[in-house]
Amino acid sequence: MRKYTYLCKLQEGLVIPKFTEKKHQMRYVLVTGASRGIGRAIAFKLAKQGYAVVINYLHNDEAAQQTRDQIVAEGGQAELLRFDVAQPNAIEQAVEQWQQRHPDEYIDVLVNNAGIRRDNLMVFMQNEEWESVLQTSLNAFFYLTRRLLKDMLTHRHGRIVNISSVSGLKGMAGQVNYSAAKAALIGATKALAQEVAARKVTVNAVAPGFIESDMTGDLNQDELKKIVPMKRFGKAEEVAALVAFLASDEAAYITGETISITGGL
Ligand code: NAP
Repeated sequence: MRKYTYLCKLQEGLVIPKFTEKKHQMRYVLVTGASRGIGRAIAFKLAKQGYAVVINYLHNDEAAQQTRDQIVAEGGQAELLRFDVAQPNAIEQAVEQWQQRHPDEYIDVLVNNAGIRRDNLMVFMQNEEWESVLQTSLNAFFYLTRRLLKDMLTHRHGRIVNISSVSGLKGMAGQVNYSAAKAALIGATKALAQEVAARKVTVNAVAPGFIESDMTGDLNQDELKKIVPMKRFGKAEEVAALVAFLASDEAAYITGETISITGGL
């Protein structure tokens, strides 16, 4: 998207174009936790829509490489960016490295998706269980989004999608930590949306119900799907389709919203 201003008219008929913005040809999306599950499905979907995908993950090199290889095999663009979203210094270093590799580019779309569960009844909940869940879902949103926001504001274009949860809307027994983190993410989404709307940066949250992934692999699906009006768990691809819409130009007038995707739960 080259934008010129014609400032220097040296003599009649001679117009010198001058760049007023950095050259920015490719659109980049950073998806945290994109090695597996919902994040991986979001990476595939956005790659198909023409974004260059930056795949963040923490431990699972093999799964992350598979995600990248599949995108590239299908003609898309993807690169790995491993860092721990729960560590502010790691975020800083990783973004710095990425920017050095891409001096003329910026990340248009950020999907804050990485998350963990450490379920326990609150009376038994350990400090580590509380802190690790808040660091991975909530603190990560703050440190990473703040780091990438300036470029979005400068370019007057950006999309931030935060993956919350139905637990953040209604609360879930055994998940005081997770429900708190996901509810706070919704509050932050609403507040930030108002701060940046005038600069054409949108901020929305998606609140999935039960979605098939490693995170829900230990749950009794047969029992739980009875309480879902659609009588099934959702698919990661269904969440990805919603995220892709919120990331698109068509969703330019939607901001500060939390959209549930729960099969009617
Ligand atoms: P998942 O299958 O367990 O995958 C989690 C992903 O997050 C993996 O890619 C993992 O990377 C990454 N990750 C975890 N901790 C990280 C860290 N500290 N730094 C960087 N990456 C990290 O989970 P999922 O089901 O796809 O869930 C994705 C998001 O949706 C989460 O925020 C979750 O809370 C939310 N959600 C899920 C459901 C559901 O039913 N599945 C429902 C509501 C909301 P590695 O592969 O390297 O470990």
